[in-house]
This record gives sequence, structure tokens and C-alpha cells, in this order.
Amino acid sequence: MRLILLGPPGAGKGTQAQRLVARYDIVQLSTGDMLRAAVAAGTPVGKRAQEIMARGDLVPDDVMVEIIADRLGQPDVANGFILDGFPRTVAQAEALDELLEKLGLNLDAVVEMAVDEEELIARIVNRAKETGGARADDNEATARRRFAVYTEQTAPVSGYYEGKGMLSTVDGMGTMDEVAAAIEGALTEATAA
Ligand code: ADP
Repeated sequence: MRLILLGPPGAGKGTQAQRLVARYDIVQLSTGDMLRAAVAAGTPVGKRAQEIMARGDLVPDDVMVEIIADRLGQPDVANGFILDGFPRTVAQAEALDELLEKLGLNLDAVVEMAVDEEELIARIVNRAKETGGARADDNEATARRRFAVYTEQTAPVSGYYEGKGMLSTVDGMGTMDEVAAAIEGALTEATAA
């Protein structure tokens, strides 16, 4: 199973991705986690990404594409993967298409979690309180910026996959179990098609 999970910040992509990892025995490729690891390790990419992430802006496409190209070349992705946080721009989506073609791989599905913006910002602010601000980008101002960036740069990615007839949209505002069931249904439909 090879799939992309799309959805705005705080939609619960990470949680759903973890469930899919267990369900399909695939790996989760979270670019947010990779970047946070790079920041923590103080690598050149991490140094470049740190301020950009703290502002809620996007790390440049060429950096992201290189990270993903590198990751998709590793052996543990052989059984499948779930992309969480990538692609975030149409340029990244196009680069991913090229990369997959080179690797001789197809995507099985692109699932978008549709959500309510105000409720999500409340969730992010809450998450910041619960985790004691473990993530530098979990505050209201940055959350709003991340949403604006999402609307401007990432929402068109849904249109990109819709145009290819690959997009499944599920209601992302239910409980974690409800959303998981909706994603499961969308995957069953997409892989049967
Ligand atoms: P969330 O799931 O809350 O949107 P992520 O953990 O996916 O957050 O990403 C955190 C930050 O990392 C983003 O706000 C952005 O700065 C950076 N980032 C992650 N993935 C990408 C990407 N594909 N392209 C550019 N920037 C990215």
C-alpha cells in the first residue's frame, strides 16, 4: 500500500498515519518528524529549516524533494509507505510523480481529511498546552500562519490529485475511530477501482 494523507495542520494526520502503519505493515514518512529530527541533530538542513518552521512557513521545495528522494530509496519502504506532510505544494507533487516513475512505483490512493479551520486551531492551541509547548510551532499565531500557508500552497495539491482522478475526501472532524473507518472505506474503494 502506497498512499498520501492530505489535510491541514492539526487534522490528526499523524495519528491516522500510525494506525495505517500497523494495519498495512508500511512505514510512515512524516516530513515534519524528519525536519524536527534534523533540527534536533543540528544538521545543515535542520539549521536551514529551524526558523522557517518556527514561523509556520514552508521549507523550500528542493530541500524537501531531496529528503523524500533519499527516504524513498531506502529498503524499508519496499512494503509500502504513507506520506504524511508531503507533498505540500504542487511543485512537490510533480517532483514526487517523477520520482515514483523513476522507481517504477504507483500510488494506491490519496486521502484528504476535510476539517473545520476554527476547531483545528483550537486543537493546536490545546495540544500546545497539553504538551507544555514541546513543539516550537504550536501556538495560535503560528497555527494561523500554518493555516494560511495551507490554504495558499497546499490546498491546490488536492486539486492536482483530483484532476488525476485519485483523490478521496473523508470527513476528518469525527472521533479518531470514525475518521479511521472513513479512511479505511476510502482505501478499500480506491484499491478496488
Ligand atoms: P502539521 O502536521 O501540524 O502541519 P508537520 O509536522 O507536518 O505539521 O510540519 C511542521 C512544519 O514542517 C511545517 O509547518 C513546515 O514548516 C515544515 N514542513 C513539513 N513538511 C514540509 C513539506 N513537505 N514542505 C515544506 N515544509 C514542510
